[in-house]
Amino acid sequence: MNTTQISNQLPNSEGFFGEFGGRFVPEVLESIMADITESYLKLKDDPEFKKELAYLYKHYVGRPSPIFYARNLSEKLGGAQIYLKREDLNHTGAHKINHCLGEALLAKKMGKKKLIAETGAGQHGVALATAAALVGLECDIYMGEVDIIKEQPNVIRMKILGAKVVPVSHGRKTLKEAVDAAFEAYLKDPITQLYAIGSVVGPHPFPMMVRDFQQIVGEEAKEQFKEFSGKNPDNLIACVGGGSNAMGLFTAFLDDQNVNIYGVEPAGLSFKDGEHAASLTKGSPGIIHGFKCYLLQDEEGNPAPVYSIASGLDYPGVGPQHSYLKDIGRVQYETINDEEAIDAFFTLSRIEGIIPALESAHAVAYALKLAPQLKKDQNILVNLSGRGDKDIDFVLEKYGHKYGISK
Ligand SMILES: *Cc1c(COP(=O)(O)O)cnc(C)c1O
Repeated sequence: MNTTQISNQLPNSEGFFGEFGGRFVPEVLESIMADITESYLKLKDDPEFKKELAYLYKHYVGRPSPIFYARNLSEKLGGAQIYLKREDLNHTGAHKINHCLGEALLAKKMGKKKLIAETGAGQHGVALATAAALVGLECDIYMGEVDIIKEQPNVIRMKILGAKVVPVSHGRKTLKEAVDAAFEAYLKDPITQLYAIGSVVGPHPFPMMVRDFQQIVGEEAKEQFKEFSGKNPDNLIACVGGGSNAMGLFTAFLDDQNVNIYGVEPAGLSFKDGEHAASLTKGSPGIIHGFKCYLLQDEEGNPAPVYSIASGLDYPGVGPQHSYLKDIGRVQYETINDEEAIDAFFTLSRIEGIIPALESAHAVAYALKLAPQLKKDQNILVNLSGRGDKDIDFVLEKYGHKYGISK
C-alpha cells in the first residue's frame, strides 16, 4: 500500500475516500458545494487565514490542550501507561470548537451572513453559537422539541450567546427531523447562509474540511508526546460518533505504521436493532445526508433508529474516511456498551479527578480493557474529547444509586 495516500491525498477531487464519501445532493446544491470547496481550498493555504485561526486556537480556545499522564490509572491497571489528550479543557469544553471556529471564519470570508445547523443534545449548537458570536454572524440552530425539553441548559446557553433556536415539531421531534428542517431552511437560501456541519460527515467538502480543522489535535499530540517519551505513542484511542475528534487525533499518525489506532463505537444496550449506534461494526455501505458510508439502515436503505447513552455518538452513519480506514485495515474499530462507559466515567472521575463526557468515556473504557493486555513499557494515548459537566444530572438520576450518590 502507498501509505502517503492515506493522509495526504484523500479525498480525491470528487470527495471520495475509496468508495466512500462523495457528494449526493440535489442539483441546486451541487454548485454551492463546489463553491464552498473552492473557497476552502484557497483559504486553507492563505497565510492570513492560517494566522487568524492559529491565533484563535491559542488565545480563545486555549490551545495547545495539555497531555496528562494518568499515573494513578496506569498503576491500577498494571499494564500500558495511559495518557490523556485534554480536549475537555478547551473553551466550551470539547473538541467541537476547533471546527466550528474554522467553519465560522470560512463563512465570514465567503461573505455569508448566517450559520445554520441542527443539534441533538445541543453540543454542536453551543459550539457553533459561540463561534458565530465571536466572528460576528447570525446563527440559527434547529432542534427537535423533544430535545429542547431534555437539554434545557444548552438551549439557554445558545440563546444567551445570541443564537436563534428553531423548534422542530414534526415526526419524532429529535435529531433526524432537526436535520431535515435545517436542510430545508438551507435550500431556501444557500447563498447568504452556510450550513455548518458538526462532524466529519455530509457531502464533500465537509468531511475533508472538518478533518483539517481538527487535525491540530494530533499535530500537537505528536510533538507533546515526544517530550514525554522521545517517540510516538504506541496506541491511540478515540470515540467515534461522526468521527471528528477521532480524525483529529488520528490524521497526524496515519502514515506511522507502528502506531496502533483504535476507534470506539457505542454498543449501547445491546446489538439488537435500535439499541446501539455501531455503524462501522454492524452497518453496511449506504447513503445518508449526502455521502456514502457504513450505515445502520433498514431494508429500503433508510437510516435505522439508533441509540447510545452518549447523545454525541448517536448517529446511524459515520465519516467516510473512517469507513475507508476500516476497509483498508489501518484503524481497528471496537465497541463499548453503556454500562462499560458509565463504569469508565466513574473510574476516571474517582482515580484522576477528571469527569469525562459520556462520549469520551467510551474511549477511556476501551483503554481500561486494552492497557492490562499490554506491557508496562507500552503506552496509550486517549483522546478525551470533552468534559462531563453536561452529563452529571443524567448520570445522577440514572446511575447515582449504583455508585452510592444521591442529591
Ligand atoms: C459531539 C461529541 C463527540 C462525537 O462527535 P465526533 O464527531 O465523533 O467526534 C464526541 N465527544 C464529545 C465530547 C462530543 O461533544
